[in-house]
Amino acid sequence: MERNTIQRQVLVKVIKNLAHSTIPDIIEACKKEFPAISVGTIYRNLDSLEKDGLIRRIPTKFKEDVYESTCNPVHDHFICTHCLSISDLPRNEKFNEYTNKFGDLIQESSIMYYGICNECLNKKC
Ligand SMILES: [Zn+2]
Ligand SMILES: [Zn+2]
Repeated sequence: MERNTIQRQVLVKVIKNLAHSTIPDIIEACKKEFPAISVGTIYRNLDSLEKDGLIRRIPTKFKEDVYESTCNPVHDHFICTHCLSISDLPRNEKFNEYTNKFGDLIQESSIMYYGICNECLNKKC
């Protein structure tokens, strides 16, 4: 398979610009950028870009998975269970790979925090 097609570059650029984008967001933005792109191509490239480490898929409990660029260093996320907004939670410490007590090599970690964002909290009172 072609590794560096225009479609791939468009997808990487779109995901970088959108931040925490769902597949429908990505499809819409890609079509604006490159009208000939097909939905099948987008799905295929999302998988290969994720495997190649250029984008990161963030699974969430309450909404569909979102994608972001791996240009940002690994960080944690907060999702508001009321408005479903997702925000980045930067880490204070740099993550280094390590071997745990079972002998597994840990290369990355990500924590998803669930709660109510400050905007929703302020609206409620
Ligand atoms: Zn909220
Ligand atoms: Zn993020």
